[in-house]
Amino acid sequence: MKQIVDQLRDEHAVTAEEYRALLTMRDPEDVEYLMTQARRVAQQQFGRKIYLRGLIELTNVCRNDCLYCGIRRSNRHINRYTLHREQVLACCEQGYQIGFRTFVLQGGEWGEDRSQWIAELVQDIRRRWPDCAITLSLGEHPRETYALWRESGADRYLLRHETRDERHYGLLHPTAMTIRHRLQCLDWLKELGYQVGTGIMVGSPYQSIRSMVKDIQYLVEFQPHMIGIGPFISQHDTPLGRFPAGSVEMTARLYAILRLALPKVLIPSTTAMATLQPDGRLRGILAGANVVMPNLSPSDHRQMYALYDNKATLGAESAQGLNILAEELSTIGYHIDWSRGDSPRL
Ligand code: SAH
Repeated sequence: MKQIVDQLRDEHAVTAEEYRALLTMRDPEDVEYLMTQARRVAQQQFGRKIYLRGLIELTNVCRNDCLYCGIRRSNRHINRYTLHREQVLACCEQGYQIGFRTFVLQGGEWGEDRSQWIAELVQDIRRRWPDCAITLSLGEHPRETYALWRESGADRYLLRHETRDERHYGLLHPTAMTIRHRLQCLDWLKELGYQVGTGIMVGSPYQSIRSMVKDIQYLVEFQPHMIGIGPFISQHDTPLGRFPAGSVEMTARLYAILRLALPKVLIPSTTAMATLQPDGRLRGILAGANVVMPNLSPSDHRQMYALYDNKATLGAESAQGLNILAEELSTIGYHIDWSRGDSPRL
C-alpha cells in the first residue's frame, strides 16, 4: 500500500485499480501513511498557512431541482430570500474590515434574466475592493453569461461536477440536467480564464467506489485550481432525505489522495465536515486541505440557506468567530493567512 502512496506522491497518478485500493484500504497504519504524506506535500506547498474565503449566501431561490439539495425548486417548506445589493456590499465591507480578501457569492441557480443584476453587483464589489478576489458559485449558465461576469470582474468560479458517473448523476438530478452539460460549463469557465473549482459530495446516495475512482480520474485530467468536496448530509424535505450521511473519514481520505495527485490545488476543509464532527474541519486540514470558508452571510439568513440539515453556521464556521477558528488551528500548529490566496498555478 505504501508503495502506491509513494507512487501517487511522486508521479501524481496511479491506475484505476490502485485508486480503488487506496479508497478501500483498511489497515490504520496504511491510512495514516497516506495522511502523513498528503500533509507533508500540503506543507511543502503552503507551509502551515490556511487561506480564508468569506462565503456570502446570496439567495436560496433556485430553478433547479437536484434531489439532494434543500433549496431545490420543489421544496415548499422553506422561506425563499435574496439578499439586496446593499446587504451584499455590507457583508463585503464587514468581511474586509475583519481582513478577508476573497468573497464567494454562492446561491441557487437563477434564469438568465437576472444575469445583468449579478454582473452589476460584481462590478460594484470590484470597484470598491479592487484588491479582493471575487468568486462566484451560481450554477450552470450559458457561456455568454460566464463571459459577462468574468468581464465584470469575477476571478474564480466554483461548480462541483457532483459525480463523474453518468448513471449516478442521473440518480441525483432531474432528467433535464446532464453531466455532459455540467462538464461543458466547467470547460467554458476554464477557457474564459476563471480559476475553476469543482468536486463532489462523498457518500451521496448510490455512490460507489467505482464512481469515486472516475471522479479522481476526472479531477486529475481536468486539473482544476480548486477542489470542493464535502460529505453528503441529508435534508429532510428532499427525496433523498432518508439516506445516511457520508463519512468524515472517507472525505479526508479523498482530500489526501487528491493532495498527492494535484499538489498545488486549493482544497477547502468544508462546512459539511464541521457539521458532522466537531473536529471535522481539523481532520480535513490534517489530510492536506488548506482553505477554510467562514460564513459572512447576514446571520438571520443563514438558516434559510439550508442545503442540508443542521448546517454549522456558528462559532468557527462564522466570520465573526474567527478567533475560535484561529485557536482551533493553533492546536494543530496552523495559522490563518490573510492574503487573497490565489492558486499557485497562476
Ligand atoms: N447552485 C450552485 C451552488 C450549489 S450549493 C451550483 O449548482 O453549483 C453548493 C454545493 O453544496 C453543491 O454543489 C453540492 O455539492 C453541495 N450540497 C448540496 N446539497 C447537499 C447535501 N444535502 N449534502 C451535502 N452537500 C450538499
